[in-house]
Amino acid sequence: MKIIEKKCPNCHANLEFKVGERDVKCASCRRSFAIEYDRDFTDPEVELMARDVQLQIMEDFKNSRKFAKFFISFVAIVMVAIIIFAVVSAIQQKQEMDQRRQESEAKQEEYRKKQEQAEQEFKDQMDAAEGQFKIDQSEIDKMIEEAHNQIESK
Ligand SMILES: [Zn+2]
Repeated sequence: MKIIEKKCPNCHANLEFKVGERDVKCASCRRSFAIEYDRDFTDPEVELMARDVQLQIMEDFKNSRKFAKFFISFVAIVMVAIIIFAVVSAIQQKQEMDQRRQESEAKQEEYRKKQEQAEQEFKDQMDAAEGQFKIDQSEIDKMIEEAHNQIESK
């Protein structure tokens, strides 16, 4: 196989690779490059074509701008999702608390009304009992008076 010599596109050190190889790593700057051939390297004229070999910088994915953009986008999306989740759960919690407070207030109001009702009923009963007692007392007075009259008349 013919050895092809090229300059490293990054640091301009000499690069050597065999015809047909798809990638090469620069021994000087440690960068990797994809090897692109103008024609398929199985072509019989491949050795002639090899002169037109192009080296394409094959950036490490982690160092690439694409990765940076992807990572920043990912982080931004995650952060937005977290914020949305936090806001939504805060709203839900507030709604639940409001609902519980309203329920509690309604129960308190209901209890207060029942208490008022019970107090009123008790008062009515007391009034009724008092009225009954007054009637009884007047009847007793009347009976006492009648008894006096009877004694006096004898
Ligand atoms: Zn290099």
